[in-house]
Amino acid sequence: MPTEPDKGKKIYDYLIVGSGLFGSVFAHEATKRGKKCLIIDKRNHVGGNVFCESIEGINVHKYGAHIFHTNDKAVWDYVNSFVEFNRYTNSPLANYKGKLYNLPFNMNTFYQLWGVKTPAEAQEIINDQIQLSTTASPANLEEQALSLVGTDIYEKLIKGYTEKQWGRPATELPAFIIKRLPVRFTYDNNYFNDKYQGIPIGGFNKLIDGLTKGIEVKTETDYFANRDHWDDIAEHTVFTGSIDQFYGYAFGQLEYRSLRFEHEVVNMPNYQGNAVVNYTEREIPYTRIIEHKHFEFGTQANTVVTKEYPEDWTPEKEAYYPINDAHNNGIFASYKALAEMESNVIFGGRLATYQYYDMHQIVASALKTVSVHFTTDKDLITM
Ligand code: FAD
Ligand code: UDP
Repeated sequence: MPTEPDKGKKIYDYLIVGSGLFGSVFAHEATKRGKKCLIIDKRNHVGGNVFCESIEGINVHKYGAHIFHTNDKAVWDYVNSFVEFNRYTNSPLANYKGKLYNLPFNMNTFYQLWGVKTPAEAQEIINDQIQLSTTASPANLEEQALSLVGTDIYEKLIKGYTEKQWGRPATELPAFIIKRLPVRFTYDNNYFNDKYQGIPIGGFNKLIDGLTKGIEVKTETDYFANRDHWDDIAEHTVFTGSIDQFYGYAFGQLEYRSLRFEHEVVNMPNYQGNAVVNYTEREIPYTRIIEHKHFEFGTQANTVVTKEYPEDWTPEKEAYYPINDAHNNGIFASYKALAEMESNVIFGGRLATYQYYDMHQIVASALKTVSVHFTTDKDLITM
């Protein structure tokens, strides 16, 4: 006689909501430990924001240009175990009123701005400008930028870009946003200070494919469209969607900044000679033009370029940048307190933690979550 299915026995150990880097790393690691996982994603593809679409044989970064960089050898080795990375070095240019400047701010930029050739000359000009405008403790992005690089760089390369990127005056933005841009007194156009940097050979989809290999995935599947069903089929949920939506917006909606991408095929092999050109003046409505083939040193006959337009966020748009001001951080703190009381749900990734994270930070945090989870949950110890 057939036996009754074991009541209460779930089909999956883990339901993973979201196939971005966080969900994919978690799913890979749990599967490696013998756990049965199902990944669902509301989009029609896996990979979250690192997803690329092949157009004209070029990997087009559909959700904004992505360059992997890290100082953490373990994270670098981990991603390289799924796909080899090339040595692309990000060296964006800034176009201000038709003139080009190197980024990040370095001796090349100072030469282009002022004709100075030595670090001492550059330092003197910057110091003079800082003296004019500095305040003892910078309270906002404008004050922070002026006290780091002075008025010329602020006016030409920061103010316009920042205000269109964030949709508000630089005096109303937190200082920390600008602190991640290096200022160097060497002729070095590398945008990042990290030891390791590159793009997966063959594109970011290869990384996600490697992570999710052999794992069941359902795309075009929104967790909230059938929440009871999804909660029912797995012992644990790993949630990488928006935390405010998870709690029915009980404490209000978290705010974001969004982006609109205009992709275009151009019938020429090389449009701008560089992957990233920023447009730093306020009057040009986009912040940057990306030419995707340069990330992988492409030699295709045509090229694909993308103009990136910052936009106000509304719930039907993609949530790209969290607005980590006091108001929103306060709302998030209330959701976080609820999340900490959950015993069966793990929250991770940029949307569930309402935090801007680079990819290496997401990989590191997913690996950390895995290691804490699989060693503290006694039932789940497999190693
Ligand atoms: P996501 O990639 O957003 O994945 C979350 C997934 O969950 C999505 O696929 C979404 O569809 C899915 N989902 C959400 N809600 C639901 C639901 N209800 N049901 C089912 N599925 C759901 N980092 C770098 O290191 N270098 C860079 O150069 C870089 N450039 C960037 C440029 C831009 C414009 C942006 C916005 C980010 C950039 N980043 C960069 C950051 C990088 O994108 C993130 O670190 C990383 O992609 C976050 O992964 P995640 O898994 O947390 O989130
Ligand atoms: N930024 C700027 N001018 C530039 C590039 C960046 O003023 O040409 C400022 C801007 O405020 C931006 C911040 O530096 O939000 C961080 O830049 P980053 O390139 O790290 O932004 P992301 O690629 O994450 O959008």
